[in-house]
Amino acid sequence: MLSDTFPQQNASDQPQPKEAMSNTEVEYGMDVFSESVMREYLAKDTVEKLLHTVNDHVPLDPSIANEVAHAMKQWAMSRGATHFTHWFQPLTGSTAEKHDAFFEPTGVGKTIARFSGKNLIMGEPDASSFPSGGLRCTFEARGYTAWDVTSPAFIKRHSNGATLCIPTVFCSYTGEVLDKKTPLLRSMQAMDKAVRKLMACFGEKETGHAVCTLGPEQEYFLIDKTFYLRRPDLIQCGRTLFGAPPARHQQLEDHYFGSIRPRIVAFMEDVERELWRLGIPAKTRHNEVAPAQFELAPMFEDLNLAVDHNMLIMETLRNVAERHGLVCLLHEKPFAGVNGSGKHNNWSVAYNGKNLLDPGANPQENAIFLAMLAAVLRAIDLHADILRAATAGAGNDHRLGANEAPPSIISVFLGEELTNVVEQLGKGTSAKTGKAAKLRVGVDTLPPIPRDTTDRNRTSPFAFTGNKFEFRAPGSSQNCAGICMVLNTIVAESVNVLADAIAKLPKAKFNEGLQKILQAVIKDHGRVIFNGDGYSETWVREAQKRGLPNLRTTPEALAPMLAQKNLDLFASQGVLLPTEMKSRYDVFMEEYTRKVTIEGKVALEMARSMIEPAATAEFGAVCQALASAKAAGVTLGTKGIAEVAETLGNGLEALHTHCATLEKALGEGPAETLAALADLRTAVDKLEEDVDDARWPLPKYRDMLFVY
Ligand code: ADP
Ligand code: MG
Repeated sequence: MLSDTFPQQNASDQPQPKEAMSNTEVEYGMDVFSESVMREYLAKDTVEKLLHTVNDHVPLDPSIANEVAHAMKQWAMSRGATHFTHWFQPLTGSTAEKHDAFFEPTGVGKTIARFSGKNLIMGEPDASSFPSGGLRCTFEARGYTAWDVTSPAFIKRHSNGATLCIPTVFCSYTGEVLDKKTPLLRSMQAMDKAVRKLMACFGEKETGHAVCTLGPEQEYFLIDKTFYLRRPDLIQCGRTLFGAPPARHQQLEDHYFGSIRPRIVAFMEDVERELWRLGIPAKTRHNEVAPAQFELAPMFEDLNLAVDHNMLIMETLRNVAERHGLVCLLHEKPFAGVNGSGKHNNWSVAYNGKNLLDPGANPQENAIFLAMLAAVLRAIDLHADILRAATAGAGNDHRLGANEAPPSIISVFLGEELTNVVEQLGKGTSAKTGKAAKLRVGVDTLPPIPRDTTDRNRTSPFAFTGNKFEFRAPGSSQNCAGICMVLNTIVAESVNVLADAIAKLPKAKFNEGLQKILQAVIKDHGRVIFNGDGYSETWVREAQKRGLPNLRTTPEALAPMLAQKNLDLFASQGVLLPTEMKSRYDVFMEEYTRKVTIEGKVALEMARSMIEPAATAEFGAVCQALASAKAAGVTLGTKGIAEVAETLGNGLEALHTHCATLEKALGEGPAETLAALADLRTAVDKLEEDVDDARWPLPKYRDMLFVY
């Protein structure tokens, strides 16, 4: 019976292999208002002024706004756009856009295409329906969007049209930030300032620029849409609230890096083609650990751009999946008992184009590398709580610490070689094994740190991977902006502290003094380094001994946002005012509570309106069979049937009890709701085993995860 609803996989439906596209067909970046487009559409000195703003982060010269707007409109219309929008990232975690047509009527039956400098620079969307955590009073519902010149405008296409998108920041009438982008930009500025100060200590000119770089690896699931439409939990919550794990899921370890099925690779090709048109450097694609799980990794880019691009990657994955009769699940844990999805944030800092987390080839470069490394260690040790807060959320709670994702304890993995260097630096002995000479910062060259051996430990939330840090705790659905904003802020603070100390060193004793400073940091903060198995129970105990926080749930993890030390920290770096930080806390807590409540309600409804009728019908049929057998005087087999009836009866009792508990818990709070939901799930998943397959109302894991 189920086969009627199985995805129809006729050979003729499947995309047939075709000639690979030629390179010119790819047209990388063709939908981006890039430098080459600027040069084509704008006067030379206007281009220079605009690029000065983009590259040197100086305010936009208002006198060129009209000219730029006109050029952008001409270009966008030549590419089929009829509308424009200010594209922004409110606190909902997704992106927002309100489209306006370029056309304005100029009389009966006449229009003119208009897009002014003012339209480009600023918008006034009604902000009343976006979360603000109390920052925006209802009587002043206006919000403002302002062009973020550092991220280029682009064109979003749909089946029969296109829209010019202008990346913007979003704030309230009184200037408080209402989005994820503004604090990110502020935190990048904080890093820039701090790193320049540090570089000045090493004799570099302060005119240089420090930029953070990000390469976010995106994990996701794909399932056939036919299944999705029959799962109210997936539709409403993004994850399955019920479902017994199938006999076979990922134990055979045959999916990771396995050959990609034709239907999926066709999907990936389409995704990449769309991303490339938007200038998004999608680079790597592969099967992930769980069945039906995949990954897309772009080349790293400047942080701000990488964040925007990741938002577009998530949107593109979802849209293209639809076209392929698939659904892309970005939830952190769509299927219980199988691998969840994360978003590894590969992060580094570059100064004038040189990666500061690259150990380097000479003593000067190594001294800078070690200073940066020390700053990161200090930052993570002091502020692990707020970094954990950045990864909090109803979805990620099911993933972190679930034996395939890093635990909620934030520690740093350095790998054997680098840990050796750090230890010997701490002790003042040589890193070169066997030699008695002391390792002296600014004098000795570090042994080469092999990149591939530093990346073996997948259980660490924050791992050094050769020339960058890989933050693995973030969840697949999360906006990297919030995560990197925190990372930048805490590291900027540490870089400032170190730079202030280093700046005071007398020239004659610079290397010696630097060594002492770094030694002190390692002594005070080295406890955050952990190279062992992050999944083990012993680590949980060991971490507790070391005094590292273990914040397991979202409410626990968000609480540090209100701690005075963190309010002061974000204010001191000019990233978030205490009022802004508190409002964010309110928004995230509310979002958490709402999500859990929705899950509870959906589960209750499904249990009562789908599971219970099926189980009751099954129970009735079995009892009927028993009665018929007895009436006919048959005894053989009736013992077994009676047992089945009892099992089903027990299951139904449990179902009723746990539904009642969940209903009550919904009025109590998220913790109670989640506990009741887990009990109800156990009861439902047991019934799934006992009820006739043909009668079970929901697609099962073995179908969803394997039939696509
Ligand atoms: P793995 O799966 O082993 O973690 P991948 O090659 O899939 O590694 O992803 C590594 C990511 O790190 C890529 O997105 C890559 O562009 C990014 N990356 C490399 N160097 C840097 C850097 N300096 N700063 C930020 N990200 C980087
Ligand atoms: Mg990775």
